Amino acid sequence: MTTTGTRTADAARALSATAYGPQPVGTWSAPGRVNLIGEHTDYNDGFVLPFAIQHRTHVALAPRQDARIRVVSRFLRSSDGDGGVVEAGLAELAELFPGRRDEVPEWARYPLGVAWALIEAAEADPRSVTGVDLAFASDVPVGAGLSSSAAIEGATAVALAETWGLDLDGPALAQIGRRAENEAVGAPTGIMDQMASLLGRPDAAIFLDCRSLEAEVVDLGFADAGLELLVIDTGVKHSHATGGYGERRAACERAAAAMGVPALRDVAAADLPRLAGLVDEVTFRRARHIVTENQRVLDTVRTLREQGPTAIGDLLVASHASMRDDFEISVPELDTAVEAALGAGAVGARMTGGGFGGAAIALVSHDSVERVAAAARAAFEASGFTAPTIFTVTPSAGAARD
Ligand code: ADP
Ligand code: MG
Repeated sequence: MTTTGTRTADAARALSATAYGPQPVGTWSAPGRVNLIGEHTDYNDGFVLPFAIQHRTHVALAPRQDARIRVVSRFLRSSDGDGGVVEAGLAELAELFPGRRDEVPEWARYPLGVAWALIEAAEADPRSVTGVDLAFASDVPVGAGLSSSAAIEGATAVALAETWGLDLDGPALAQIGRRAENEAVGAPTGIMDQMASLLGRPDAAIFLDCRSLEAEVVDLGFADAGLELLVIDTGVKHSHATGGYGERRAACERAAAAMGVPALRDVAAADLPRLAGLVDEVTFRRARHIVTENQRVLDTVRTLREQGPTAIGDLLVASHASMRDDFEISVPELDTAVEAALGAGAVGARMTGGGFGGAAIALVSHDSVERVAAAARAAFEASGFTAPTIFTVTPSAGAARD
């Protein structure tokens, strides 16, 4: 584990000790993720190619003698007068979720939602399950499109599954996380983030078929090719609660229904002219993004395998253009980041994550990291945008006990 990872795990232990007293039995962690390509394709039953990053959320776990669960996070200690501990009976979770979730502070719905979904999936009697005190510390930037939500879900899921003796594999735990996010938090997200966080491998991406949930590890070979992946976080906060995400999902469903198929996954590029005659112009462009993006994911996987990562730049750039022009989920800050990176010699660049803010990624040669970062900073300053946060990410291992 990296020094940073050890430090964050120590912070989770220290928080556990101050909030709850007794020494935790261990720490578990799960990473955030970057999506290399395949945006908004997940809920269309399509393909995505994310990888887990080195930023992780750690959870320290201490068992309790009763069937209760407490959660606390360093994330909100400073602003919260009572220290931010949220507590519930494990049997009470089934009453809170999903109907009375408003009674639970929003952040706590993630870990408590995972506990609830795990108990339901295991068909366990919540009164017979070991109570737990959980303390979280994280270095995953929140709301930057790097999926801090999947990281907190994944860390909770692996910690509780091991403590409760549940034999669930990575994809099963990913489903638990997704259910927590959809039903306990109330965010209608797909399965990509959780799968990346649970299944990540060093130096590799996860090629995921979101219909079958079949996942293949695809070597990225960035280091061998002398490449780095730069994240340019615009600082513009996205929110799944706002209308844009739901509107895009609805448009995709309309287009699939017009074509008489279960999802846009079943529409090929050759079918697009027919779709154009069936739906309005905006719905058509939304669908065209999904159909072409699915193809770009397949092309990226093939290109990585046949030619290596230096050859995927054009696919990244085409993906960004499609999100900007057809799906219309980019913002000026993201476009500026991508243009500046490409202008400074990046191999490829695109916005990543759900859009409406968050981060862009740029694939750059090792030597040009500083030049690309400087170009992005200068372009933001020239446009009057708040300075971006820029850092490199390394494809890393998925959720595990530390
Ligand atoms: P993203 O996944 O892109 O970072 P989301 O809106 O999906 O953004 O999830 C962010 C939310 O997840 C936060 O607002 C908070 O409620 C919760 N969260 C994530 N990480 C933590 C953490 N370490 N501690 C407490 N809550 C967290
Ligand atoms: Mg998220």
